[in-house]
Amino acid sequence: SPSPAPGRNLPYVVQSPNVCYTDTHIESDYVYQNTRVRRDPAGHLVAEPTETHYQFQTDRTVPRVGVMLVGWGGNNGSTLTASILANRLGIEWHTKEGLQRPNYFGSVVLSSTLKLGVDDTTGADVFVPFHDILPMVHPNDLVIGGWDINKANLADAMSRSQVLDYDLQRQVRPHLESLSPLPSIYYPDYIAANQNERADNVIPGTDKWAHMEHIRQDIRNFKQTNQLDQVIVLWTANTERFSAVEAGLNDTADNLLASVRSSQSEVAPSTVFALAAIHEGVPFINGSPQNTFVPGVIEFAEQRGVYIGGDDFKSGQTKVKSVITDFLVNAGIKPLAITSYNHLGNNDGFNLSAPQQFRSKEISKSNVVDDMVAANHLLYPAKKTKSGEATTEHPDHVVVIKYVPAVGDSKRALDEYYSEIFMGGRNTIAMYNTCEDSLLASPLILDLVIITELMTRIRYRVPTAADPETPYAPFHSVLSILSYMLKAPLVPPHTPVVNALSKQRTAMENVFRACVGLPPQNDMSLEHRAF
Ligand code: NAD
Repeated sequence: SPSPAPGRNLPYVVQSPNVCYTDTHIESDYVYQNTRVRRDPAGHLVAEPTETHYQFQTDRTVPRVGVMLVGWGGNNGSTLTASILANRLGIEWHTKEGLQRPNYFGSVVLSSTLKLGVDDTTGADVFVPFHDILPMVHPNDLVIGGWDINKANLADAMSRSQVLDYDLQRQVRPHLESLSPLPSIYYPDYIAANQNERADNVIPGTDKWAHMEHIRQDIRNFKQTNQLDQVIVLWTANTERFSAVEAGLNDTADNLLASVRSSQSEVAPSTVFALAAIHEGVPFINGSPQNTFVPGVIEFAEQRGVYIGGDDFKSGQTKVKSVITDFLVNAGIKPLAITSYNHLGNNDGFNLSAPQQFRSKEISKSNVVDDMVAANHLLYPAKKTKSGEATTEHPDHVVVIKYVPAVGDSKRALDEYYSEIFMGGRNTIAMYNTCEDSLLASPLILDLVIITELMTRIRYRVPTAADPETPYAPFHSVLSILSYMLKAPLVPPHTPVVNALSKQRTAMENVFRACVGLPPQNDMSLEHRAF
């Protein structure tokens, strides 16, 4: 039965026996339909439709949320902070094209829509803002803070990054001057040596456990000072080198914590931040490519039931790659070589000009087509290596990144897709993409934060006849639902990685639809084809 205000704060209401709106929650009954496939003794595939009854419960109260950015004074951190202020304060500015209003373009959550259903009179699709499918925090209401190894205040950081128009910078500057990053953890060999002179805002000492406790205290202070219900910590600091992953060092939560206690050199600053956040029960997201989430971090997050997500914002070239490759392979066209060049001139590019940091990025960018290739054994058949091991064909895939100071934050990406088509023909698609990197990444940071916060308010259960009131539980600690925004999506151990962009978006859309008892979007449109 409908509650007094069923769709409160949302522009629609679901009328269904499977949905219940209470003052505090939206509860849904949902039948998850899937297809289980097995091989019979003769080796034939047997596909069996399955149904699982889920119940979802979403807390309707949007809390007061704070975001702590690691690397707050960088291009992303300063651009995001200034842009939120401009949106919050409604600051308009003049460009050579005319008056510009602030917006949240590039954010899936804020600037895209979802199909709710079809109009019952015209049959046309009806859309609602993505942001309104469930109650979500608005970025204008976020409290932003964070750390940086450089002490520049946010106004100076914004000017240094050379991203936003001058007339906007001029107007937001007074609001940013009083914001200064907290001192951070600096272990010089994790980022490029060329970052050394930036490091003037550093937590003293070499005791990694003390560093972790320091960050925990920072999180508590931030939460208390700003009277926040929820904090999310997000790494948008420099790309670090990879850490060694070794048994006894960081393979389990206990071993990793012991390694922090003894200040082992292979514990990275980003890992110390992740552990601090998990200790505080605060979600941690990694926007850079390094292996912050060594197995011990994942286990610790699981033990504490805290959400983690990563790795590496999927902002430009890789996002396009996860669309084009999906298109080619699903069109039955066989990419033989995918060759990508980037050049950029911001501090990220400067840091990536060092071999170990470039290597982190190269690894993060390299696996992005794997699932799409593996999905089509007609184009990429199984074969054996010379030594007899089972493998599959794979397109050549090369990634090059160069530092070119003159282009600043305006990254250039050149990609070539060289494919085999009908009857041995060849097709080449060449692309040239130019864009301010931080204007792509900043809205992604918002999407990551908003969806992560939402996920902390959604719980599920699978009731059984024996236990119809089994308690609600959170999702797995590794938030793979964030994959759309991430280049090398972290997924729960032993589960498949999905890189294809459209699948990643559909997953978000349909999980949120399930929370309001709506069936998944399927694009069958039978109402327009079979009548
Ligand atoms: P940036 O170099 O401008 O900013 C990074 C900031 O981190 C700097 O201010 C630096 O002083 C600070 N820093 C370094 N180590 C730190 C530490 N241990 N603690 C706190 N602060 C620290 O870089 P950016 O352009 O803002 O990008 C940030 C990160 O996001 C990079 O790792 C980059 O690879 C990643 N990324 C960016 C994009 C994009 O911008 N489109 C896409 C994917 C990934």
